[in-house]
Amino acid sequence: MSNNVKAFGTEAADKPLEQITIERREPTAQDVEIDILYCGVCHSDLHTAKNDWGGTVYPAVPGHEIVGKVTKVGSDVKKVKVGDYAAVGCMVDSCQTCDSCKQDLEQYCLNGFTGTYNGKDKHLGGRTFGGYSEKIVVDENFVLKVPKNLDLAAAAPLLCAGVTTWSPLRHWKVGKDSKVAVVGLGGLGHMAIKLAKGLGAEVTLFSRSPNKEEDAKKLGTDKFVISTDKEQMKAVKGKFDLIIDTVPYEHDLNPYISTLTINGTLVLVGFIGELDSMLQTPPMIMGRRSVAGSVIGGIKETQELLDFCGEHNIVSEIEKIDMQDINEAYERMLNSDVRYRFVIDMKSLKNN
Ligand code: NAP
Ligand code: ZN
Repeated sequence: MSNNVKAFGTEAADKPLEQITIERREPTAQDVEIDILYCGVCHSDLHTAKNDWGGTVYPAVPGHEIVGKVTKVGSDVKKVKVGDYAAVGCMVDSCQTCDSCKQDLEQYCLNGFTGTYNGKDKHLGGRTFGGYSEKIVVDENFVLKVPKNLDLAAAAPLLCAGVTTWSPLRHWKVGKDSKVAVVGLGGLGHMAIKLAKGLGAEVTLFSRSPNKEEDAKKLGTDKFVISTDKEQMKAVKGKFDLIIDTVPYEHDLNPYISTLTINGTLVLVGFIGELDSMLQTPPMIMGRRSVAGSVIGGIKETQELLDFCGEHNIVSEIEKIDMQDINEAYERMLNSDVRYRFVIDMKSLKNN
């Protein structure tokens, strides 16, 4: 048995998102059914809708920053009960048996994790549909708990923007003696700043947008550097232990590498694809510097992040939108005009 629910999706890369009907499975013994209250809008949603990475199967229903209320649980479910608030991030399944999964690194599942959208749906066949919908049904192993003190809508972006920046901060052991830089002030960037500050680091923002300086300061950055200004870039040479690069499109990494300390790392979390600009090796070789990559975070790590945010009262800066405003929101996101995450109030879909 399965259920039809309202959703917002697109039929092709060049078509806008519009209301469609999708199917959700009846919960199995280990499934949780969640009535979606809020869903954040990630740049990955836009990449998927527009098939920027290739491989999008249509219709596509994006959304992987999901917060809602539990409406049904299977007989074996222990993590949550009906009426609880619960969250779902970027993954809804993984093999649970490979070396990565056994180390709580489901995001690096050797058999491939199942994405919350555009993943291979093991239950209904076809592709998974994301959070731009009324309800979702998820294996309890991929359900997260939201600390009670956090605003639900503002907590939604923690599920992707939060954990994607948290995971490298933890992996590279950022703490109070660290100097961290963030490239790009958008959804991921603003969470990277808040989380690095939460861990006690000194934080610098690299941005192309001078008009974001005041916001960057309010978010806690210690220093603001215009990445296109050669003098400002020169002034921060050899300074950063870790740079988190959130820029979604092809860009030259070379100017950033020389701003790393000896042994420093630039970790790419934004752009997925081929870099046209050649990487200059001398700054890496002469300073044992690394260029690395990182994808989201494991389920255990995501819960750790949520709990850390609960303790430190950290949430995203959001602008609430109606589901019907999503196409305009994508346009604004393409113009870097988001301060700093759109979150869809799902009432707008349910009431339509
Ligand atoms: P976003 O809110 O649109 O922010 C991106 C920021 O990057 C912009 O605000 C802008 O900041 C800067 N930027 C945009 N276009 C640029 C360009 N052409 N050149 C230089 N800078 C540019 O996007 P987001 O939601 O944070 O996502 C960022 C990227 O991370 C996306 O590609 C997304 O798919 C990816 N992502 C990856 C993971 C992962 O697991 N690795 C997870 C989630 C998202 P300034 O105005 O300050 O320059
Ligand atoms: Zn995302």
